[in-house]
Amino acid sequence: MALSIYNTLSKAKEPFQPLVGNQARLYVCGMTVYDFCHIGHARVMVAFDVVTRWLRTRGYDVTYVRNITDIDDKIIRRANENGEPFEALVERMIAAMHEDEARLNVLRPDIEPRATGHIDGMQAMIQTLIDKGFAYAAGNGDVYYRVGKFAGYGKLSRRKIEDLRIGARVEVDEAKDDPLDFALWKGAKPGEPSWASPWGDGRPGWHIECSVMSTCCLGDTFDIHGGGPDLVFPHHENEIAQSEAATGKPYANAWMHAGAVRVDGEKMSKSLGNFFTIREVLEKYHPEVVRYLLVSSHYRSPINYSEDSLREARGALERFYQALRGLPQASVSGGEAYAERFAAAMDDDFNTPEACAVLFELAREINRLRDSDPAAAAGLAARLKALAEVLGVLQLDADAFLQGQGVGKVDAQQVEALIAARLQARAEKNWAESDRIRDELAGLGVVLEDGKGGTTWRFAD
Ligand code: ZN
Repeated sequence: MALSIYNTLSKAKEPFQPLVGNQARLYVCGMTVYDFCHIGHARVMVAFDVVTRWLRTRGYDVTYVRNITDIDDKIIRRANENGEPFEALVERMIAAMHEDEARLNVLRPDIEPRATGHIDGMQAMIQTLIDKGFAYAAGNGDVYYRVGKFAGYGKLSRRKIEDLRIGARVEVDEAKDDPLDFALWKGAKPGEPSWASPWGDGRPGWHIECSVMSTCCLGDTFDIHGGGPDLVFPHHENEIAQSEAATGKPYANAWMHAGAVRVDGEKMSKSLGNFFTIREVLEKYHPEVVRYLLVSSHYRSPINYSEDSLREARGALERFYQALRGLPQASVSGGEAYAERFAAAMDDDFNTPEACAVLFELAREINRLRDSDPAAAAGLAARLKALAEVLGVLQLDADAFLQGQGVGKVDAQQVEALIAARLQARAEKNWAESDRIRDELAGLGVVLEDGKGGTTWRFAD
């Protein structure tokens, strides 16, 4: 079966057909680096990490580009508040972003172009658009895109220009010919970072960045363009208008959009105060728990983020790691039918919840065979790990994971020390002390499991 991908442009699943050979060229809109990444960003990072991992597993030669917006209003404002150059803020936030994604086991994109590294390309595309009549210098230092001139405007978000005009906000001292027109170049205001241009000092608008960086890295037409749920309109609509008007060619073949993250059933927003950065969440939860929460839903479905859903994700991972725990190292053997079903799920528009369900069945099979046929169970455990690698989970040592659940509560060394003290007490037949330590461990949420090979432990759910 061929890989099919839901295309926002056609609103249908389509077989994935690379434009060139077996190349898969993918561009995803990345972060505006003025603050730490939040869980909405984590979702986009993880969703497209899984997409690239599966494309590679399927043998495609993937080029994954995710840009960095390193100049914009929010960056300038925040840098001014902090009293630092915008470059310093941006460097710090990019380093933090890379740290966050590494903790979530997100592989780095192949290319991470930065907007400020492509100013020349943006000016060239803006000039082309002016020459073709799709853009105009407004005389106040801004250059605008003439939305009404592009016949395909609204094709991605299914909006009609007439309807948009009715809703458009007309601002006083409007330099635009039409309220729908958007800025390609913004004339510099005093004290702002700026670049020289034929239209005066200024800086690029946000939308032009992505048209230029994608084309620069991947060509005029490429296979997949992705991003977060809020980007369909206007950002991606505007990217299409810019690129197709400038090149006269189709822009991206398929458009993929991750679903929204809701917090306790509400839209996540700074004003509601239900806003979590990745690092805040990782103070309380193991990174793999957060990752599993994200991959156990389909990338297009809304995710509800709550303490309950995190606990559920942790419980699921604990069941997986308990199946993997204590089996000898082995190479992959058996479980071909599971691998086929896993592949069929992933080929169906990256259906990760279905893929997770297959992994659960495989884990149950491992548990069934564990005592009667440990060698077969070990071969299947290797299969489970190999399949789970596509989702970026279950690659840790099982004990390390199960004992790493006390994030923020107690560390593994402390638990080991108490277990050793309890063993010592038992050796000395000091049952009162042994029981006291057992109670102390229970109070820390540690479950002891006395077995043939000694005492192992894990944190309780
Ligand atoms: Zn973009």
